[in-house]
Amino acid sequence: MTEPAITVRAFFERVRAGQLVAIRCESCGQLAIPPRELCPTCHARAWQPQSLAGDGTIASYTVIRVAPRSHAAEAPYAVAVVTLKEGVAVLGRIVDIPLGSLAIGMPVRFRPLVVSDQASIGFGPA
Ligand SMILES: [Zn+2]
Repeated sequence: MTEPAITVRAFFERVRAGQLVAIRCESCGQLAIPPRELCPTCHARAWQPQSLAGDGTIASYTVIRVAPRSHAAEAPYAVAVVTLKEGVAVLGRIVDIPLGSLAIGMPVRFRPLVVSDQASIGFGPA
């Protein structure tokens, strides 16, 4: 078994530091984020880390009005699938954008989100 190019834990440590890192399959060129073990396209296990700029557009979004208990105080909030300019899509929490103005195709920019010492992916205004 080979070492992963970047572990999920390391991925979120980078997120906390404000960096978004994908992995690129050396076999077929597929980008993936967050890291996974096998390439979903060709099933190779030959990843190389690749830094992403963090710029993207909203591909779809959902407004969460009834949140899991750990996030209940934060509802309502939006989560969006964001297509990054490198071509890979990632799920993130929308911050600092009024829910009523969200739209498919809206440009957004990655920012780290740290809640209760837990780092996650956020997207704010571009
Ligand atoms: Zn591949």
